[in-house]
Amino acid sequence: MELDPVDLKILELLQENGRLSFRDLAKRTGVTTPTVSSKVEHLEDMGLIEGYTVVIDPEMLAQLTILLTIECKPSDIKAVLDRLEGEKEVRELYAVDGTRVQAKVTVQDQNHLNGFLETLGSIEEITSYKYHTVTKTVKEASRAVLHDGQNVVVNCHYCKKPIYDNPVKLKLDGKDHYLCCQSCARLFKEKYERIKAEAD
Ligand SMILES: [Zn+2]
Repeated sequence: MELDPVDLKILELLQENGRLSFRDLAKRTGVTTPTVSSKVEHLEDMGLIEGYTVVIDPEMLAQLTILLTIECKPSDIKAVLDRLEGEKEVRELYAVDGTRVQAKVTVQDQNHLNGFLETLGSIEEITSYKYHTVTKTVKEASRAVLHDGQNVVVNCHYCKKPIYDNPVKLKLDGKDHYLCCQSCARLFKEKYERIKAEAD
């Protein structure tokens, strides 16, 4: 599904400042406030806008950041990723080339780094690791990169498969739902109404 230019502009503006009002967004995109409101609602329903957050300047916290490369058996990668995902010091986590794990880790100070490395040492699947200490952060872009004609892959709200064609849109109680085909749309609607009837 392709995002239209106004959607893209709204996303760019909100990524810079999530507190812009619908009226601000309308002024800057040249559409009406109700249009902005319904577009933002769509982007939220679709799941593309996951939430709104606060940006804190990490430099002011004087923390210690390391870039970490972990070696393990390819068959253990998932276990290592699962184990590290829950560590709050792990800010970014990747499987790379299907053969190793890389992470960005931020800790309070050297003591906490030692504690974290001890944790690493206790994970059996890790065969070795090495890390580099970040001495200067030049750029850290947490924002998504958006291109003209940007495509969005939505998962079917019924069967959960990714939808590569145009989705079937179903509006129920003012909320949009995206389905991959008419059959999923019918099944989703049935399920939705059943759950709703049970809740009443
Ligand atoms: Zn489906």
